[in-house]
This record gives sequence, structure tokens and C-alpha cells, in this order.
Amino acid sequence: MATAVYPGSFDPITNGHLDIIRRSSVTFDKLIIAVLENEEKSPLFSVDERVQMIREACGGIENTEVRSFSGLLVRFMESVGSTIVLRGIRAVSDYEYELQMALMNRELSPEIETLFMLPSIEYNYVSSRLVKEVRRYGGDVSSLVPDVVLRALENQFS
Ligand code: ADP
Repeated sequence: MATAVYPGSFDPITNGHLDIIRRSSVTFDKLIIAVLENEEKSPLFSVDERVQMIREACGGIENTEVRSFSGLLVRFMESVGSTIVLRGIRAVSDYEYELQMALMNRELSPEIETLFMLPSIEYNYVSSRLVKEVRRYGGDVSSLVPDVVLRALENQFS
């Protein structure tokens, strides 16, 4: 039984994340979406809000589970008994950071494998950061995020 973990900030979840989640949910028996509690990043949404939004957005995808974690990812991996970390790569700009993290995680825990997935081309430019920025200044992001996130962004920025 192969369980993969998709860790991230998900502040908030976008259709790009969801595309990766849909693709990986057919590849693995179980997918744990792991929301990082990292106050240093000054998130727009609390970790509980992020978890709730992901749960609602992934409602129809059966083999997914949403959890939060803090501290080292490798410790979380141990606690859920998985050795597969899933990350998404958009452009070359993602690669350097992802490479560093993957190699650091391997250093900390050699049995961990990081797998990279590409989103559908239409989501290649979508990021949580840009979605927040565009919405903050009144832009329409309805095609880039699930409805639950659209409503939450409206509450934040109205
Ligand atoms: P982090 O702060 O850990 O980078 P994010 O929520 O920004 O958290 O991203 C989590 C993962 O999802 C990262 O691997 C990131 O590259 C990937 N990701 C984010 N947006 C997209 C997208 N539009 N398409 C594919 N992968 C994405």
C-alpha cells in the first residue's frame, strides 16, 4: 500500500494544487495532504482554515486525507509511515528550491524519496502568492481557486 505525502503551505489551496492532488490520487493508494504550520511565513489563513478549505475542495476525491504538521517534515513522514514526498514543479524557478529541500530531506532521512509532478499547463503560472495579490487589488481569481477559497478571499478582502 503506497501512501504519499503532499506537504506545503497551501495558503490558500489553488486549482494548481488541486490538479496535482487529483493526478496523484490515482497514482497512490492514499495521499496525505500535509499543511505546514509555519507562522514565520505570516500566512493569510490560519492552519485550521487552510485544512478546512482543502477538506472541502477535495471532498470528491476519496483516498485523500488532510492533516497539519509543524517541525521537520521527515518526522511527520515517520509518524504516518510514508517514505514518498510529493511536490509540484511549475517552472525552472521552482527547481532550485525544491532540489535543496529534497536533498536535505534525504540527508535527514535516506529512505525518503521526493517525487515531482507537473500540473496541467493551464495552472503552470498559478501560485497562492499571486492569487492573494491579484484578489487583494480586486482582480478576478474565480478560475484559479476552488469556490470555498473564493468565498474566503472575499471575506478577507471585502
Ligand atoms: P510551500 O510553501 O511548501 O512551497 P506551497 O503551498 O506554495 O507551499 O506549494 C506546495 C507545493 O505545491 C510545492 O511543491 C509547489 O511547487 C507546488 N505548487 C504550488 N502551486 C502549484 C501549481 N500551480 N502547479 C503545480 N504545483 C504547484
